[in-house]
Amino acid sequence: MANAPGAPANPSASSLEFDAHLEADVLVLGGGPAGTWAAIAAATAGARTVLADKGFCGTSGATAASGTTLWYVDPDPAKRAAAKAAREGLGGHLADHGWMDRVLDRTHAAVGQLADWGYPFPRDADGRDRRVSVQGPEYMRLMRRRVKQAGVTILDHCPALELLVDDGGAVAGAAGVRRQKGGGWAVRAKAVVIATGGCAFLSKALGCNVLTGDGLLMAAEAGADLSGMEFSNAYAIAPAFGSVTKTLLYQWASFTRADGAVIPGAASKGGRSVIARVLATEPVYARLDRAEPELSAAMRQAQPNFFLPFDRVGIDPFTQRFPVTLRLEGTVRGTGGLRLVNERCATAVPGLFAAGDAATREPICGGFTGGGSHNAAWAMSSGHWAGQGAADHARALGNGARALRRAGGAGLGEGRGAAIDAGALTRAVQAEVFPYHINYFRTEEGLTGALTRLDRLWSDAAGAAPSSADDSLRVREAAAMLATARWMYRSALARTESRGMHRRLDHAALDPAQRHLLTVGGLDEVHVSARPAPLHPDPVGAKRELAA
Ligand SMILES: Cc1cc2nc3c(=O)[nH]c(=O)nc-3n(C[C@H](O)[C@H](O)[C@H](O)COP(=O)(O)OP(=O)(O)OC[C@H]3O[C@@H](n4cnc5c(N)ncnc54)[C@H](O)[C@@H]3O)c2cc1C
Repeated sequence: MANAPGAPANPSASSLEFDAHLEADVLVLGGGPAGTWAAIAAATAGARTVLADKGFCGTSGATAASGTTLWYVDPDPAKRAAAKAAREGLGGHLADHGWMDRVLDRTHAAVGQLADWGYPFPRDADGRDRRVSVQGPEYMRLMRRRVKQAGVTILDHCPALELLVDDGGAVAGAAGVRRQKGGGWAVRAKAVVIATGGCAFLSKALGCNVLTGDGLLMAAEAGADLSGMEFSNAYAIAPAFGSVTKTLLYQWASFTRADGAVIPGAASKGGRSVIARVLATEPVYARLDRAEPELSAAMRQAQPNFFLPFDRVGIDPFTQRFPVTLRLEGTVRGTGGLRLVNERCATAVPGLFAAGDAATREPICGGFTGGGSHNAAWAMSSGHWAGQGAADHARALGNGARALRRAGGAGLGEGRGAAIDAGALTRAVQAEVFPYHINYFRTEEGLTGALTRLDRLWSDAAGAAPSSADDSLRVREAAAMLATARWMYRSALARTESRGMHRRLDHAALDPAQRHLLTVGGLDEVHVSARPAPLHPDPVGAKRELAA
């Protein structure tokens, strides 16, 4: 495999009509941390690599808009053991310690690479790099530069709409639209990495405007299944008038009702459900009045974009109350995503790999992330392995000719359905996934009612067409959010207990008999099945913790 930019494909090899054709060994969909690490790994392994992003690779997605803490732990056995134990109970004892070890090792190496590439880590008093967090804009600017230096062809503003598959069902590329130049694109590739991020249902959460679950739908249409989709109801605190969902600073907040009365038990950690309960009937206000003056100056310096919405409306959050909301971040700070079948991050479909938030993070988080460093570590690790795995797959496949067909369906006009109103469909899905009484506090009744309505929407949308070519992206996004909501609620219904971030009001306790993972898949018919969780490294300790 020569590492050169993609060359025009031979359109006569298929009946596909597109304005831009490229050929590659590896095609990476998504240009956030996971996609950029995947592209660099694939290109470094000698694969001709193309990366297509819905936005501009380097400024798009959840990390670019923000900053992330990293699960960066020195390779000291005691520190590593403590890092793994810290999330064990929170994640509902579903994580896999073998994967945790791999991710801790890989993240350590990747962060070292970032330092070698010139990432400006701050220094502590002893002159050592503080490598436990990165600023999104600097990190992603550097990643874009490295992707280009690795010889990857970047297609900016080129969302993928569907995968291409060969006669045997193996993935063989993808196709999408060119948002700025107009028309469509297609890349024939021997392997594809889905790194399109999670799904936050267009809730206006920071950096999540492009995260509509597109990769999940595309992969499922090609035959992939998902896992952990019941762990998908991450809600983050945000000012009611802004999109910044950084919750860390709210540990210094007091939460009050409109009349100024303090809400007992309301807190960002361990008290978010209290906030959700009050928000269901009345507004909730916050003020960061527990931060000492020296700390507030440090907070402004460390998290400048947290303060932008406040500065814009002239509120001092340390002295003035402001209304807050809980914004759904769905799978972005949940753990569900495409199921991986091996350590190279392959999915169940030949030629298809997944990384970052698009893949299930259960191997290292079990049923809970809430952000807090694991996601960023997962994106850089799984991205690297998926890129390498895809390059190896491409090399093994060789150069034989393959006839291609389009794998996409929902909302692409393959059926005889009527033209679809993307805005109306999006609002209808949001009406089922935003409400706390359906998604935060789950019950059989609430989930079943929502599923009945979502299934009805699916039967209308599945065969429908966009009203115009310009609308095709919005329609596919709406269809992807709809599919994601159905996988999420089918899984939530099947898990009749509370575990990780999945809370059932009607099954409030953790049920030791349900220490399993849930596979979900299917489009018209959604199916769920249980598979064994990884062996627990300390079964006695886990039993004690469960009993407590
Ligand atoms: C406010 C906030 C704070 C966070 N803080 C932390 C933290 O402190 N620590 C931590 O570990 N995690 C944190 N997270 C989570 C972390 O940001 C994500 O886990 C991480 O960004 C995942 O990387 P990714 O590459 O998988 O997805 P993203 O960074 O979301 O990138 C996805 C990319 O895919 C592209 N894309 C989407 N659809 C398509 C399509 N159809 N075709 C082509 N491209 C497409 C998007 O444009 C985007 O560039 C935070 C998240 C949020 C929202």
